[in-house]
Amino acid sequence: MPSLPQGLAARAARGAGRLSQKLGRGGGTTIPGLLLSRLRPEATAEMARSVSGGVILISGTNGKTTTARLVRAALDTNGARVVANTAGSNLERGVATALLDADGAEIALFEVDEAALPGLMAQTEPRVVTLMNLFRDQLDRYGELEHLVDRWRGAVAELDPAATVIYNADDPAVAEIAARHPNTVSYGIEDPRVGRDRLPHAADTTECRHCGASLHYEMVTIAHLGRWSCSECGLARSQPDVQATRVELHGLDGQRLSIATPRGPIELSLRLPGMHNSYNALAATATSIALDLAPEAFGPALAKREAAFGRAERTQIGNVRVTTLLAKNPAGANENIRTMLLEDHPLHLLVLLNDRTADGQDVSWIWDVDYELLLDSGRLASLTVGGDRGYDMALRFRYAGFDPQRLSVVPSVSAGLNTALGASETDGHLYVLPTYTALLEFQAVLAERGLVPAFWEDE
Ligand SMILES: [Zn+2]
Repeated sequence: MPSLPQGLAARAARGAGRLSQKLGRGGGTTIPGLLLSRLRPEATAEMARSVSGGVILISGTNGKTTTARLVRAALDTNGARVVANTAGSNLERGVATALLDADGAEIALFEVDEAALPGLMAQTEPRVVTLMNLFRDQLDRYGELEHLVDRWRGAVAELDPAATVIYNADDPAVAEIAARHPNTVSYGIEDPRVGRDRLPHAADTTECRHCGASLHYEMVTIAHLGRWSCSECGLARSQPDVQATRVELHGLDGQRLSIATPRGPIELSLRLPGMHNSYNALAATATSIALDLAPEAFGPALAKREAAFGRAERTQIGNVRVTTLLAKNPAGANENIRTMLLEDHPLHLLVLLNDRTADGQDVSWIWDVDYELLLDSGRLASLTVGGDRGYDMALRFRYAGFDPQRLSVVPSVSAGLNTALGASETDGHLYVLPTYTALLEFQAVLAERGLVPAFWEDE
């Protein structure tokens, strides 16, 4: 099919999106872009070029939604007119759909699926690319992590030298890819008090990218992130440009960060819990610096942001405070476990495991999660498991050594919530660890019961 003129293709795409919504079929955030790319394959590149202040792409396995929201807050404070994609529409069609509304936008900010990043880097010629991390995630969708690393490396090699690459110096794979680019801003955690000295067994990248020798870690923060070096060839983490010199984690209440930047020190008080969010805040800080936003302008804005969709949300049900922590891969689940262990009350858990397309159909990742830490802590008071693959989860805990008498396997999310609420009533705290589609189900159950969580405050 020959390419349609830009104006005509864009009108047709917008019309298709409206029609789809009118017919009640949803798809308003992806269908126009999907159609547009068929009618005029070069449309995304053309629309991206029309954004005067350039395109920002943020990608990584974990934290891109939260980070994009933090950067958005910084841009909003500065009064820039921003076009952005909504959470979940982070493939090419979602970006193309968002760009249809780019008329007059000064800057485009997109969180991008890690597999879609190389294609979007080629099409949008970004001004800033933020490379956050690469964890093993949904392997059945993407194939090996190694393949992704190679594709990212190729995309960075093709990037305009004038573009800025923001990268996580603590991730050896990401650092090796990004450090070849001439124009970079790196970030990392320097505070030795939050480190551990050994890799958890969920660590994904432990071999030197140059020589294949095992990496040595002076300090580990999350999974394979930390202060790494190769004793064989000398490849090592370089001192980050933006560094968290002090990380004070306040359990689920949030954290305080002291950050050294080339523009001077900044202090951040965040309501986002856990060290994964320390990294998100660092990525946002480094990205904002690359965009010439003054730290004093975006600091207060960052502090106000809540967790993105489903990441540490709280709902009060009767006298039980319910905290939801999305867990879709080993690194994220392990970070949730560490965050829960910072709390000082007995832990009641509802774990919901689904294996639908958006979750990743291979659930073997649960065997890489350190659930043993929960059992070893002696504070796991009750455990309810459910979801499509609830029995796999029950088996996982059984192997971890959890007393099967104290374990409930439930058929539905609604029944699971009832069982878990009953078990946690006296202690007053329940933690829900769902996969992505299980989280959607869980939210639907809350909505049916007239309980409105704070998930939608950004929309
Ligand atoms: Zn080496």
